[in-house]
Amino acid sequence: MTGKHTENGHQRPVDKTNEYVRIENVTKRFGDFVAVDNVSLSVFKGEIFCLLGGSGCGKTTLLRMLAGFEAPTSGRIFIDGQDMADTLPYERPVNMMFQSYALFPHMSVEKNVAFGLEQEKLPRKEIDQRVAEMLDTVKLGELARRKPHQLSGGQRQRVALARALVKRPKLLLLDEPLGALDKKLREATQFELINLQEKLGVTFIVVTHDQEEAMTLASRMGVMDRGEIVQVGTPTEIYEYPSSKFVADFIGSVNMFEGRLIEDEPNFIRIQSPELNSTIYVDHGISAPPGASVWAAIRPEKIEIAREEPESTENRARGVVRDIAYMGDMSIYLVKIDSGKMVRVTLPNSVRQLSQRISWDETVWLSWDASSPVVLPQ
Ligand code: ATP
Repeated sequence: MTGKHTENGHQRPVDKTNEYVRIENVTKRFGDFVAVDNVSLSVFKGEIFCLLGGSGCGKTTLLRMLAGFEAPTSGRIFIDGQDMADTLPYERPVNMMFQSYALFPHMSVEKNVAFGLEQEKLPRKEIDQRVAEMLDTVKLGELARRKPHQLSGGQRQRVALARALVKRPKLLLLDEPLGALDKKLREATQFELINLQEKLGVTFIVVTHDQEEAMTLASRMGVMDRGEIVQVGTPTEIYEYPSSKFVADFIGSVNMFEGRLIEDEPNFIRIQSPELNSTIYVDHGISAPPGASVWAAIRPEKIEIAREEPESTENRARGVVRDIAYMGDMSIYLVKIDSGKMVRVTLPNSVRQLSQRISWDETVWLSWDASSPVVLPQ
């Protein structure tokens, strides 16, 4: 993930003047259980918005309320400016693609894709034309006569997508759209999905529990925890500036140092952490009372590893390399620092200087830039 998300980001622009979906204080209870807890959110036209969260956090329930399969216990949902309270699922400008794809096994690809249009009783000629166009768009033209069981997982996924898109919804809801695909195919399909979305201009809301998928697909994403949306932002914002320990932990890997604010100026702060033998100096202020307990979160790729002792007496730690995992494009070092804490450091394998590589059991110095830590309240 680190390779995909650099400081500059690669995000597609979001037109924030064009609100397409507005969720206002929506709560959904099942008996005493609160599945979705007072969620408010705007999604703009042409976005791929990802709802990301662990199992049971309420993502699917939120999606089902947008589709009209569940009614909110309280709160309101607007799509294209219209309150959806009294609008039935099939009257909404929305289509949903299910995790299971729900293809008709006895129907050919072509017939599966045509099904929704036939229900609408469109003229045969128009149906044939739209189905052919859509199969071309998802590159399934040659497989039109096959049945679902004669297709690969990726091809079945494209049939489900074609079937949802052929009805020309303004909003497409996708529940774990790539969950059934293996890793390699999933990556290829992520880019196909982005291209398709850009070509058709449909607004996508995608539910996923896979953070890499959300980071790749999303123009913006909302991180959910126990029914609440805890942070909304572009993938870069969420990765670089998580607003809580939960988000920092959930998105990518991160080293958390527990500490106390010992200096708090408008343009810098110092944190004393019992987990380090040095202080942490951060080159921006935060709003927290003096002495407050905080977390300093530092991403593994922002930590340097060297044999030589750094000049600065702050933002550093000494340790011993306990484990190295070679991942091809990068290596992960697990370094046990003097306090006993394990720190994770990643290094790109761009240079082949094997003889100079730091190895197991070597004593090393870790250091980081004053701009690297994200300071979070405890
Ligand atoms: P997953 O990734 O596992 O699908 P999710 O984030 O999509 O999880 P939801 O399906 O939205 O989670 O469910 C949220 C919570 O609401 C879960 O604890 C679930 O058990 C509960 N829940 C969902 N539907 C119902 C229902 N019809 N009746 C009772 N509880 C429900």
